[in-house]
Order: sequence, then C-alpha cells, then structure tokens
Amino acid sequence: MDKMSASKKIEKLKELIRYHDRKYFAENNPEIEDREYDRLYAQLKKFEKDFPDFALPDSPTQRVSEEPLAGFKHMRHVIPMLSMNNTYSHAELESFDERIKKNLGKEPYEYAVEFKIDGVSVALIYENGTFARGATRGDGKTGDDVTENLKTVKNMPHVLKSLPSGKMPRLLEARGEVYISKKDFEKLNKEEAREEKFANPRNTAAGSLKLLDSRITAKRRLDILVWGTGRVEGTDFKYHDETLKLLEEMGFKIVPRLEKCRTIKEVIKYCDGWQERRKELDYTIDGMVIKVNSFSQREKLGSTAKSPRWMIAYKFPAEKALTGLLEVKVQVGRTGTITPVAILKPVCISGSTISRATLHNFDEIKRLNVKVGDMVYVEKSGEIIPKVLGVAAEKRKGTEKRIAVPSRCPSCHSTLHKDTGGVALRCDNVSCPAQTEQKILHFASRNAMDIEGLGESIVEKFLSRRLIKDYADVYYLNFESLKNLERFAEKSARNIIDAIDKSKANDLNRLIFALGIRHVGEKAAWTLAKRFGTLAELKKQSVDSLTAVNEIGPVMAESIHNFFRNKENTLVLAKLEKAGVNVRMAGSGESSILEGKTFVITGSLDGYTRTGAGELVRHLGGNTSSSLGRNTDYLVCGEKPGSKFEKAKKLGVKIISESEFNKMLKGLKK
Ligand SMILES: [Zn+2]
Repeated sequence: MDKMSASKKIEKLKELIRYHDRKYFAENNPEIEDREYDRLYAQLKKFEKDFPDFALPDSPTQRVSEEPLAGFKHMRHVIPMLSMNNTYSHAELESFDERIKKNLGKEPYEYAVEFKIDGVSVALIYENGTFARGATRGDGKTGDDVTENLKTVKNMPHVLKSLPSGKMPRLLEARGEVYISKKDFEKLNKEEAREEKFANPRNTAAGSLKLLDSRITAKRRLDILVWGTGRVEGTDFKYHDETLKLLEEMGFKIVPRLEKCRTIKEVIKYCDGWQERRKELDYTIDGMVIKVNSFSQREKLGSTAKSPRWMIAYKFPAEKALTGLLEVKVQVGRTGTITPVAILKPVCISGSTISRATLHNFDEIKRLNVKVGDMVYVEKSGEIIPKVLGVAAEKRKGTEKRIAVPSRCPSCHSTLHKDTGGVALRCDNVSCPAQTEQKILHFASRNAMDIEGLGESIVEKFLSRRLIKDYADVYYLNFESLKNLERFAEKSARNIIDAIDKSKANDLNRLIFALGIRHVGEKAAWTLAKRFGTLAELKKQSVDSLTAVNEIGPVMAESIHNFFRNKENTLVLAKLEKAGVNVRMAGSGESSILEGKTFVITGSLDGYTRTGAGELVRHLGGNTSSSLGRNTDYLVCGEKPGSKFEKAKKLGVKIISESEFNKMLKGLKK
C-alpha cells in the first residue's frame, strides 16, 4: 500500500472509531460489537505502525490509556458486588420484612433506608489510606479497572483521614455511586459543542467512566456518593449507619439522609415521602434502598447466588407505566433522521400525562420485539423524552401487528437511506416538507446566514401561505407580498427584506453551514470553504477527495457527497445561485489564483510530497491530473522526472521547476 492510500485509510479508520466511541461512550448506544470495534482499532494501530508519519496525536490510539475497551484491565471483586432485589410494591416490602423477621428469630433489628442514586456503582480500594485502584461493578464478580478516570471524580478522596480512633485500615474498599448532578448535566450539554446531546445523566456518567482519555472524563463533572464498604482489613465495622458516619469522617461524601427505621411501616412512609420530594434533589434517585443495619445480622441472613437477603431496593413506581401502544408514527427531524414514535393510550407518569414515547429507531423496535396493540412499559425520568422500555409479552392476545420499516419518507416519499452508522433511517431530500421549516430556521440562524427577523412564527406564516417552499425561496420574497400579509407591519416587512438581501454577501463558509448538510458543523463548513474556495468546486468532490481533507472524515464526506447528488438539493442550490447568493470564499482572494489551470506533477519535489503539492494546487483553485494531456497547462518537474518530461515537450505543455511553481503558488507569476 502506498503512502497516500495508507493516509486515507488511517483517516477513515480514525473517523469510524471516533464515531463508534461516541455511540458507545457518550450515548451508551453502541452500534457494533466490541469485537468489531477491536478489529477496527487493531487495523488502525497496524497502519500507524507501518506508516508512522500518519500516527498523529489526535488518533484514538494515542489516548492516555494504553489499551482500548477490551483493554481496560479487569479487577476482580473479592467480595462480589451483588445486585439488589427490586420491588415496586408496598406488599413486597412487607413480605421482605416478614422473611427477615422469620430468619432472625426473636432478635430485634433495624433498617437503614437510603437513596438509590441513579448512577454507576464502583468500588474504590484504599491501601493504608491512599487510593490504589478502583473499578466498575461489571458483572458483579469482575469490573473494569477505571482507576485513572476515578481520580478525576469530584469528592473522591485520594488520601483518607484516619479513623477517630487514630487507626487507618490496611485495606478499605468503599463502594458508591458515580453520578452527574442535574445542574452539571445541564451545563455539560450546553458546553460541549455536540450535534447530539447527552441523553441522560446516568448514561453519561457510565460512558464517561469508561472513556479512555481521562482528560475528557475530568471535564464531565462526575461526582460520587459512597453507600457502603466491601473488603475491609485492619478495622471492624459493626453497623451500617455507623460505618457511613466513619467513612464521612475519613473524607468520603456519603449518601445523605440515611434514615433508621424500626418497622416496615416506617420504611414505607419514608420511601413514599421521597417519592414525592425527589425532585428537590440535585441528582436523580430512582428509588430507595432498604438494608438491615447490623452487619452480624446481615451475615446470619446471607445471600442467594444473585443478591443479598438483607437488602432490597424499592423503586419508585410512578416512573414507569404500563399502557397500550396504539400506533407507531414516523417523525422526520431537521436533518432528516427518521424516528419511530409510539402513540400511547394516555397514561400518567410522575404527574404528567404521557401519550407519546420514542422508540429511537427500527433496530430498537426489533430488539424490543414490540408490536402495535401491545401493552408496553413506558418510562419517563427527569427532562428526558419518555421511552418505551419493553413489552408485557404475557398480555399478548395474538392480534398485535408487526411494525413495518418504512422505505419511503412519510412526508415527501423520498426513498429512505440507512445512516452511515447503519441504525437510523434518513430522508435525504432537502425539500422534504417535514424538514423544511426547521431547515429554514437553521439556514437563517445567527451562525448560518444570519437573517434577522426570520423567526419561527414568520417562517410558519410564509410556509402556510406558500410564499416559500425551501430556504432558497427566501431570496425571492418581495416587499409587496409581505406587506399584504395580515398583521405584518410595513416596517418589519422592509427590515426582513433588507436582512435577506444583506445575507447574500455572506462568505461561503456561512452558506455551507446554512445548507444543513448532516454532520457539517460550523468548523467543517469553514474548512471546506477554505479548501475548495467555491460551491461549484465543493460539489464536484468525490468521497475520497473529501476524505483527503484534514478534519473531514468518511462519515462527513459521505454525507456531503450524498447531499450534492440529491436532485432536489441541486435545484435548491441553483435557485440560491440565481438569486445572487455569494458562493465563493472571499477574503484574501488567494483561493482562486490557479483557477482553471491543470497541473501534472512529476519527479520528486523538495518542499512537498506530490500529494501535498496537488492539494495545494486544488486549494488555490487549480486542478491536478496524473497524466499529461491536451488540457494540461503545466508540468511541475521535480528531480528525476522520467518520461513525462519528454512527453510534455512533445505536447508543448509548459514545464516549470519547483521554484517557479512556488512563485506561482504565491501569486507572483501566472
Ligand atoms: Zn422526506
């Protein structure tokens, strides 16, 4: 493999890996098997080893941790982190209590009741008071060693204070929940310039803990609340409440509001109280945990293979509901993402009536095996859109209907395509009515074409009056037609027309961003505008030549390429150009000094690789070719030029040296 194709291959792999990283870590919604990911990763590593020039620091292989995903070292939990029995019902809490009573004979006992934080369980190991390592719960027996990432967690003590007795345990395993507060979660979604937002605090915490670059983890504002201990050597804890108090004195932040209860009635009352009040908390709790307070009694009660008998989680029931799935509607987003939405028999969840829930995508429908007419479990937590969790299969009557995957857009009937990731369906039609309104708003938005006054209500009005059908039509609006709209003041009509007119002169990067090509953000739009100089040039590019641009990966390249191949898009673009919208990158003007000239490069150059020289030529508006022909304007001749030199002489092509070429690039010579 030559250098150029290696470089392309590496860029492609990097982009793919980053894409899957995002799916896995940030969205907790992986699209490929770990094994497949590992294969991509190994491939990238091999290429980078064979072509070390291209092993750049931005590569996923260069992250802090030495090994990827599979390579998180495993940590065995000497005392397994068992799971908890869950219940949603008071009755089951009562029978839990009866079992305890029976098993403890006549002994009196107490419960400690605490929040069930909706986070990620971890174990922290301290050796002689110093944090040594930590791991996720994993399957309970073995977790991922995420020591480096845990070190970035707020309120995670690195060094412990001694116990009040002056003693320091030789070994102390604290167990707790890593989480992101509601406030920090909000901030995080505001800060990170992401096309897709983090879905919810728990998934984000889980993903962040498993990031391979702990510098990124550090930015995720993870916090921890400790709820217990695992292995302890060198001291003896006797009661749960007492242990937590001691842990607090050692420097841990512990789960607050622990309540001791003598009867299950008190337990239920306390749980119900927090079910109502949990909104006051700055983190999400999804229930309460009820534990027998005495460690010696815990030992007596023991565990089943799966879970301890002395503990139960009471999950807040109102978060989930069982209701009928009446219909599945297909929704089209701004960028054309097709989302199946469950239309539900209205049901009350946490005080609000839910009649719609997301099904994410059609793979999810398949995974859940959900059908129209099913009784489904629906969940709503916090600000998150309600989602369908699963099917109550035992309630099936046999009349349920399979949900068909649409092949055409419900709004414009264009053929749908699968996303590059292979999961989401998309409608790529720029004139799709369902996407149109959102697209126009994006087109006019401040960072795009910046058309002041073209807000939601006005766009709606224009669309419903059929004054516009797409964003290009905006440039064909005239003062007369606006003035005649009811309740539209002459002055605002004038202002809008002026703003629209002014926007025509925007630089190409704004226009490219405004087009709303999927995956193309402001920065990429700028890169593309700089690199290709004109819209016409950008349109011409193949996926490969787009991928060859720094910062443009295969996913984005594919998306750009598809955008310009779409017939409807072509028409809209033509309208924009006809209206006189600027389609060039202005500024220095250097971007077109070689416009219309075709170069062939031969021999080895001092200052450039041949690929690099070719890129420069194209960057400045020229074309390159690998073979000489009648259209060739210049042969750039380096050392040892070979046969092309002779051929150029025969064809009468102008032959220039590297230094002449240099002058030309600087615009000094034509
Ligand atoms: Zn459509």
